[in-house]
Amino acid sequence: MRKRYILGALALLFVGYFAFSFLFPSSDIAKKPLVPKQFDLAGGPERENRGFPQREIIDLASEYPDVFFRQGSIKEAKVALSFDDGPDNNYTVKILDILKKHNVPATFFVIGSRCELYPEVVERMVKEGHRLGNHTYSHPNIIKLSNREALKEVTKAEKIIKKYAGYTPVLFRSPYGSLDREKVEFFRDKGYKLISWNIDSLDWKGLSAAEVKTNILENMQQGSIILQHSAGGPGEDLSGTVEALDNIIRVLKKDGYKFVTVDELLGIPYKK
Ligand SMILES: [Zn+2]
Repeated sequence: MRKRYILGALALLFVGYFAFSFLFPSSDIAKKPLVPKQFDLAGGPERENRGFPQREIIDLASEYPDVFFRQGSIKEAKVALSFDDGPDNNYTVKILDILKKHNVPATFFVIGSRCELYPEVVERMVKEGHRLGNHTYSHPNIIKLSNREALKEVTKAEKIIKKYAGYTPVLFRSPYGSLDREKVEFFRDKGYKLISWNIDSLDWKGLSAAEVKTNILENMQQGSIILQHSAGGPGEDLSGTVEALDNIIRVLKKDGYKFVTVDELLGIPYKK
């Protein structure tokens, strides 16, 4: 008898669950924007590929001081915010809203294939005074590519950026930050400036707003280039970045920092 009650209760739960999902379809999914297939990063998600050593970045910056940059002058209270992997129609738009509210410019290292998906977001970046840099067409790990293949990734992206932004960017940031001497010299000879960072928010790990804020403010110094992301791979959560941004800008403004684009911070051209 008791067994029958239990079975009955289980059946009721089962039917109830389906009735609920039918009445309130995908309440969770509806909150998340649809991520198209083209959104995949060719070299895989940041979380599986990052780890390019900071030591290597520092070495490259001192070996190629006119081409490879990780920060500006420490003598001036300037800072450059940089956002990789956009555009998308979610995080990038929210970041643009916050930047606009504070009247602060930033530099966006955009992915060509994503510019094709969201050209209106690229146009908005330009209209609102932000700078665009090249972050390849499909986000491969370029040290695994031949020079020819790597160049193809960059030129394919720059044609698309030119179409929507109106100029060919000089600033290039390699996906995952990965570069070696051969690639630095190759892209130098093609006229690009290679942009790294000295402050990594580590936001691609899906950190909370408090963690993103700490990673940035604790490491702050004059002339910094801050790395954040304005779009992720499929399923990556950047709400910590969005949530922390307003407060980070307020704190830095209060500390007397002036926000500039990466090219202005470094005193280099931004377009060809
Ligand atoms: Zn990236």
